[in-house]
Amino acid sequence: MHANHVPSEITRVLFTESQIQERLEEVAVEVDADYAGRDLLLVGVLKGATMVMADFARHIKSHVHMDWMAVSSYGSGTQSSGVVRILKDLDTDVAGRHVLVVEDIVDTGLTLSWLLANLGSRGAASVEVFSLLRKPDAIQVPVALRYVGFDIPSVFVVGYGLDYDERYRNLREICVLDARVYGG
Ligand code: IMP
Repeated sequence: MHANHVPSEITRVLFTESQIQERLEEVAVEVDADYAGRDLLLVGVLKGATMVMADFARHIKSHVHMDWMAVSSYGSGTQSSGVVRILKDLDTDVAGRHVLVVEDIVDTGLTLSWLLANLGSRGAASVEVFSLLRKPDAIQVPVALRYVGFDIPSVFVVGYGLDYDERYRNLREICVLDARVYGG
């Protein structure tokens, strides 16, 4: 689905398909150089990171392993509480592995900081993060993001894996959702 298939629901396109792919390729070049000679385990965070993971992994020019985690933050409404429950754990033992967590977006960073502590406690050799998007609020929680695709303003975005109420994940572009969709 393209933004022009749902024009009344989208305020503007923030990143087109080709802008996303160009940036993913640039980050993949960095990752290839940084991890040269080391086995890399990409850990995608379901469900938002599915598109990023699929495209990013294919831009990498060496072998990688891929695994997935699903987590949910306890908390009311849209606010993340930082108290996290694992809905689907990794199939891989990360002890001694070089782990790169692949995220769609970091907002407060609460969920991610919990995830990093959790993976670190399993004895990973290294744990770093690539987030395609980062909002300014992310600096409220000190999560070190080794790789960032794009810094964006504090707006609610959908598409390319990101949802509102489970919709828009299959939108090809990353877009700002129109406030009318929230019922406003
Ligand atoms: P936080 O960093 O713990 O606040 O939570 C980040 C999670 O909130 C992401 O993984 C998304 O699921 C969700 N999220 C934050 N901002 C947005 C957005 O603009 N669009 C869609 N989901 C978002």
